[in-house]
Amino acid sequence: MAAAAAAGAGDRPREPVGPVAAGARRRVLLSPPDVGPRERAALLAAFDGGWIAPVGPDLAAFEAAVAARTGVAHAVALASGTAAIHLALLELGVGPGADVLVPTLTFAATANAVVHAGGRPCFVDAQAADWNLSPDLLAEELDDRHRSGRRPAAVVAVDLYGQCADYARIEALCAEHEVPLLEDAAEAIGATGHEGRAAGSFGVAGVFSFNGNKLITSSGGGMVVSDDRRLVERVRHLATQAREPAAHYEHLEVGWNQRLSNLLAALGRAQLDSVDDKVARRRAVNARYRAELGGRPGVAFPPDVAWGPSTRWLSCLTFDPAVTGIGPEAVRLALDAADIEARPIWKPMHRQPVFAAHPARVDGTSDALFATGLCLPSGSTLTADEQDRVIAVVAAVLDGARP
Ligand SMILES: *Cc1c(COP(=O)(O)O)cnc(C)c1O
Repeated sequence: MAAAAAAGAGDRPREPVGPVAAGARRRVLLSPPDVGPRERAALLAAFDGGWIAPVGPDLAAFEAAVAARTGVAHAVALASGTAAIHLALLELGVGPGADVLVPTLTFAATANAVVHAGGRPCFVDAQAADWNLSPDLLAEELDDRHRSGRRPAAVVAVDLYGQCADYARIEALCAEHEVPLLEDAAEAIGATGHEGRAAGSFGVAGVFSFNGNKLITSSGGGMVVSDDRRLVERVRHLATQAREPAAHYEHLEVGWNQRLSNLLAALGRAQLDSVDDKVARRRAVNARYRAELGGRPGVAFPPDVAWGPSTRWLSCLTFDPAVTGIGPEAVRLALDAADIEARPIWKPMHRQPVFAAHPARVDGTSDALFATGLCLPSGSTLTADEQDRVIAVVAAVLDGARP
């Protein structure tokens, strides 16, 4: 496995991400930032160039670069992926009283942003084929709503753990019902979907996150990308306090302060240069987990789909307790005891106390994934030795539990 460690190692530093006592073994983290001398130089160059104030050349260049690699015409960089979903939804017409269909199997930010925009998230279950929004259940939900005249204001699809959703069907359903589609590609920059299109290019607009644990990071940040120039310019306007171009700061509506800063854009730009390498590293990590653990009875990985490769943002697997004799929590606790961070699959939104009263069209798929699933350390800085440790602990728990 030395080859895996060497591949793409480049100039990446291997020192601890956080403070670690002298001589202590570094905790193996789920998905730490992967930054090095190039990011440091880019950040200092922006600083030394005097571009500390909010906007600057790195911001525009970061937007242009992300738009170009996504294959869309326009982009606006924001303070977070959550802000990006929020402001994009506002521009899609979401407001008080509006229902927005959201996959129940996602990070809470997807649903929270709907609430920020004044709407009500209504949940739809995942399909086992890709763990993403089920086109069958979405069709049922849209048909029901069509019959009763309750058309949703928007649909948000999520590219979970870096796998593009089934956009051939989801885009067609949204077009048929004339409902705008927003793609939450927070976990999927670098993934490819239907017809070879890049993650982020589906629907009316796409959203990326550059949070510290995502594939690439600006230490915190997000972006809206779209071919719709008006939508992107409106989001830019709302994100800068809805300030009209008048010397005295005229305001016709209420805005937000949600732009990404130029300094952070400089960091994001440097990260973007190596996004393909980072995705390749995560995919190699995932391939090794599959090779070493996938053959064990009762252990399964998300199915591969026909429409394009995942980024493998997080490497997930499921443990069937009826076969393995253990569930994911036993594995997580054993990993934690060995100083290795693992995390359950996202708890479905329809199971979250805060959203318990919201409508949900569910068939048990996300409940089953939550009950059996676990995310293993997946970062692009994970070394072969660290992955050895992870695999050894998981194997030992499975061996010890085997009936
Ligand atoms: C991380 C994430 C977000 C939110 O992005 P932030 O930049 O953390 O606000 C939204 N949706 C999904 C699916 C995410 O994983």
